[in-house]
Amino acid sequence: MSEKKRPLILVCNDDGFYSPGIQALAEVAMKYGDVRVIAPDRQQSAVGHSITISKPLRANKVKMPSGIDATAVNGTPADCIKLAHDKLMDVRPDLVLSGINHGSNAGINIIYSGTVSAATEATILGYPAIAVSCTDFDEDADLSGCQEAASKVIEFVLKKGLPKGVTLNVNAPAGPLNGLVWTKQADSRYVEEYDGRVDPFNKPYYWMTGKFELLENGNDLDVSVIEAGKGTVTPIQYDLTAHGFFHEIKREPLL
Ligand code: MN
Repeated sequence: MSEKKRPLILVCNDDGFYSPGIQALAEVAMKYGDVRVIAPDRQQSAVGHSITISKPLRANKVKMPSGIDATAVNGTPADCIKLAHDKLMDVRPDLVLSGINHGSNAGINIIYSGTVSAATEATILGYPAIAVSCTDFDEDADLSGCQEAASKVIEFVLKKGLPKGVTLNVNAPAGPLNGLVWTKQADSRYVEEYDGRVDPFNKPYYWMTGKFELLENGNDLDVSVIEAGKGTVTPIQYDLTAHGFFHEIKREPLL
């Protein structure tokens, strides 16, 4: 009987290698394979898919607070994955995980999220990838339900794989997991409310304090399902083509 090789799992995030969330996800990953943690050396939330092109990247060996060996990169989550792929890993990972993010990445948050972008970058490079977020921002939030959701989705992906170009985006509330449902990204946006202040040099400055606004309702939408207390798994894609409109418009002459 041939023994199956233990999968190699790369773990990243956007809150930095020292965050409780990446620790919690690394612990889950260790149940399924050998783990490498390569993550930003500082808080990188809401950097989206940005990459570093105007300064050198450095990758330093560090110990996570729990003692797990990690590599900290002075770049964005997408930088971490690109550098891991090209230089930092001799053996290609079988799976890439990003999270557990402190804060929801449902609805329009997906597009601003560094956590989701690390997973998306992995998908672009051809790896099966999962982003995991806790909808509670509190760094001390109980991540056990998110860990359980991550386990279920890791098992699913290791068994069934993912179609080319598809990333799984998982969100779950703090505390125990009360269900895990396939969902779609809910149409939503932030109504910006910039708090305008004046600095000690009498110059104005602005601090974003936007309010999240849900623009649709439905029992298959990530934001609505989370509000109902369940975890969600949304398949997302980096192909941003509006396929429906393309097929509708492609015969219209432009010139
Ligand atoms: Mn974050």
